[in-house]
Amino acid sequence: MNSENGYISLILNTSSGASSEKEIVHQFIEYLKSKNYKLQINHTKSLLHARSLAAESAVKFNCSMVMVAGGDGTIREVVHGLEGSDKPLMLLPSGTENLLANELGYKKSLKNWIQIFEANTLHPLDLCKANDSFFTSVGGVGFDADVVRIVDMQRQGNITHLHYFFPILKTFFAYKFPAITVEVDDRVIFSDRGIALFGNISRYALGIPILRAADFGDGLLDICVYKCSNQIKLVFLSLLTILKSHRRSKSVIYKQCKKIKISSDTFVRTELDGDPGPEMPLEITIIPHAVKVLVPPKGKPIGMRRRMFRIFE
Ligand SMILES: [Mg+2]
Repeated sequence: MNSENGYISLILNTSSGASSEKEIVHQFIEYLKSKNYKLQINHTKSLLHARSLAAESAVKFNCSMVMVAGGDGTIREVVHGLEGSDKPLMLLPSGTENLLANELGYKKSLKNWIQIFEANTLHPLDLCKANDSFFTSVGGVGFDADVVRIVDMQRQGNITHLHYFFPILKTFFAYKFPAITVEVDDRVIFSDRGIALFGNISRYALGIPILRAADFGDGLLDICVYKCSNQIKLVFLSLLTILKSHRRSKSVIYKQCKKIKISSDTFVRTELDGDPGPEMPLEITIIPHAVKVLVPPKGKPIGMRRRMFRIFE
């Protein structure tokens, strides 16, 4: 991008993430200023505010690029607000997990962000919708939704990976494996006890490759259903997933599709991008090529090993 071509709208959520990421955001802003880019910095007051700031930037004639600094929640709202606009979007990931940015291949370094900005490589990004809620990355029904709910209830300010440890343990021992019915493109593919994860990125928290074949710009949703009725099976299927061989298991159904419906006769929670999701039944669809996002040239998803190390950085 040329510094003469209008201004960059930077939507900044200062409440999310660790101080090391905030420092990189600060350094990146200094870099842009040193190159004479015109910046309009807007601090978000809430997720909804992030979305409306993005929607405003989308229609501003002299805004030539939008940047969002924040976690997955803020990024999702900005993608939603920008949907349908041709303004390029650059992520300045500064949350706990940064699911989407990791998938796109963004690293946690100033050098990497400068490379991404200067290369200006654009890639389409789809946006997913579940009932009236939007998400960019991964949603789940059952086990992980229960974990998300406990984390969300205990949440005070920034969360770290450690905040997930006891909720996972607690959910693991308490989980009853309720039955769910999963419909894919109007065909029932599963109706039994199990856990379903769906979305548009190949790697879940800590880089675990659940939706292994997912492509964030192919206009398709991926879904993985684990046929699972007890704790031992869950551990077994989790290990298969970490070893990247779950899709070959008879206990796993993996599909790519345009539309998913998930229902249950009992109360089952949902989550979207790590936040509590809407009530069941869920109807999930995809908006292909919702925005154009800057990606690292030859970028690929950040793997499990690097993400494990990041916890201790
Ligand atoms: Mg896809």
